[in-house]
Amino acid sequence: MSFKDLKLNRPILRAIAEKGYDNPTLVQEKTIPLALNRKDIIVSAQTGTGKTAAFALPIIQQLYDKQTASKKGKKIKALVVSPTRELALQIAENFEAYATYTELTSTVIFGGASIEPQKEALKQGVDILIATPGRLLDLHKQDDINLDYVETLVLDEADLMLDMGFIDDVKKIERLCPKTKQTLLFSATIPYKVEQLANTILTSPQRIEV
Ligand code: AMP
Repeated sequence: MSFKDLKLNRPILRAIAEKGYDNPTLVQEKTIPLALNRKDIIVSAQTGTGKTAAFALPIIQQLYDKQTASKKGKKIKALVVSPTRELALQIAENFEAYATYTELTSTVIFGGASIEPQKEALKQGVDILIATPGRLLDLHKQDDINLDYVETLVLDEADLMLDMGFIDDVKKIERLCPKTKQTLLFSATIPYKVEQLANTILTSPQRIEV
């Protein structure tokens, strides 16, 4: 299978080609069509399988199809929650690269770093926000983040997030987003507590294992 078979549009195909990817990985092949169909999905995949592109590409494609040229007044339409700063930064770099030939914007926020530049970046207006849970809730409390327009929520490394004690934060974040949205949950393993979380916040999820 090729990326073209996945019906990705030109700006995305161009960015992927520049990254040097020849063909989609298994998790991308399985996830991208379902994600483009707006399904809720539980994906069990390890880091290194290409899982970041598996959620980033369909998000970019969907937002690209309805993007507006104006940068002002952009609303956060995709939210990716990640357990650590390092992972969040990697995800953000991926979004930047894949969205190079679109007008879509993204930013990343995480704890343990000065909050002001993050507030400034948010003020510019972004389509895609990548965040660690604590800093996201802090900035939301301070009214710097509006999640009312989120269409797709991604919980990345859900097992790690729960191991790090973020369960209540994750549930809170989910409740701050609109009830009707697409939720994609990625986890290396699916222990009982991840299953329970998925049961509470996903709707008739499809399952993918790689
Ligand atoms: P991830 O599992 O998302 O952390 O990705 C692992 C690595 O695989 C990253 O360096 C990606 O840039 C790379 N990658 C993702 N998708 C592909 C692909 N289809 N072909 C080749 N490399 C890829």
